[in-house]
Amino acid sequence: MFVKKNIIKPFENKIWLSSPTMHGDEQKWVNDAFEKNWITTAGENVNEVERLVAEYTGVKYAVALSCGTASLHLATKLAGEKLYGQPKPNCGTLQGHKVFCSDMTFDATVNPVAYEDGEAVFIDTEPQTWNMCPKALEKAFEIYPDVKLVVVAHLYGIPGKIDEIRKICDKHGALIVEDAAESFGAKYKGRETGSFGDYCAISFNGNKIITGSSGGMFLTNSKDDADKIRKWSTQSREDAPWYQHEEIGYNYRMSNIIAGVVRGQIKYIDEHIAQKKAIYERYREGFKGLPVTMNPFDEKNSEPNYWLSCLLINKEAMCRQVRSENEPMYIPEHGKSCPTEILDTLLKYNAEGRPIWKPMHMQPIYRMNGFVTANGNGRGQSNAYIDRGEAVDIGADIFERGLCLPSDNKMTAEQQDIIIELIRSCFE
Ligand SMILES: *Cc1c(COP(=O)(O)O)cnc(C)c1O
Repeated sequence: MFVKKNIIKPFENKIWLSSPTMHGDEQKWVNDAFEKNWITTAGENVNEVERLVAEYTGVKYAVALSCGTASLHLATKLAGEKLYGQPKPNCGTLQGHKVFCSDMTFDATVNPVAYEDGEAVFIDTEPQTWNMCPKALEKAFEIYPDVKLVVVAHLYGIPGKIDEIRKICDKHGALIVEDAAESFGAKYKGRETGSFGDYCAISFNGNKIITGSSGGMFLTNSKDDADKIRKWSTQSREDAPWYQHEEIGYNYRMSNIIAGVVRGQIKYIDEHIAQKKAIYERYREGFKGLPVTMNPFDEKNSEPNYWLSCLLINKEAMCRQVRSENEPMYIPEHGKSCPTEILDTLLKYNAEGRPIWKPMHMQPIYRMNGFVTANGNGRGQSNAYIDRGEAVDIGADIFERGLCLPSDNKMTAEQQDIIIELIRSCFE
């Protein structure tokens, strides 16, 4: 095997983590916008994309916005206003209030809580789907019984335990903002992610499963809420002959050109999911016999969109690895490996992997925020839990031992086999 690694040549063209896949229809709708001269944040493409996404997700109203982060911001702001009323001048709607948030996610999930002057309290991850842990959420409500908002993400296209989370939230009268940015097309108990929250967001960023180069969507079943988001996203103009403003507004609407790209892409969603699923299954097959597992999901209740395939190295097969705030180091060891070694190897052969999202409670910007684990602990975990081998800080553990694999749907089976071979060689 070692010999084989030495004869593998780097890929001539980079194998990406997840790059856009264009089909030709996108260009047609972009040209249509040019021909009709609708080069603005309104037009047929925008209307059509809203209709198509609402239809696909089974949600009544979709509002096309400039990006997923904008959708999450307005969703979070709206939730704050619903819960606590109109904010004081120059204040966010969440001022003085704590919000429970997914911990192991992209920071775009949780930053809107800060935009609205709220305080995120991070809820640890569960090992069955790598999403928000319902047990930790229960504990958090015991510690902070006044919290009324939960922001929850579905990581890497795998639905979290959203039913259990909904039940807990209902019990405590809390609203849910659902971040389905990565999980467009993924289903839980036959229902689309992005349809479970009170307010939901998806993203059409360049590396997502359907892309417009950028763009996002706000989803809700309430017409009033959809109208409100439409108004806020276009500078909150009142109905008057001049620019009249009673509320703070934003320039968050989707461009009709971007919408043309999304419009051309949407009908390929199921094809993209099938390709990503094949990649996931080929990895799972290819790693048989290695001390690793794939990012897990609830096989009974969920159908992921398989956006990114990820790997978790068994504890006993980890070589020594340390990470400072911005630099990793590791000591290679026979029969063992670590995410850093695998990522370095992939890079050497011109393939792109990525560490797992570094949990928010480990981020310098959120170092003072609360963090709750399944056993009710948080920061400054007592060693007793660790000594007893009980679950503590699942997110930190997955970050330490996991990584995202090249998951581009244009990667060929032959190229993927080489990547599998390279990863196998890291354990020799
Ligand atoms: C991509 C992403 C977002 C943000 O979407 P943008 O369109 O890039 O603003 C939010 N949350 C998660 C989990 C994401 O992966």
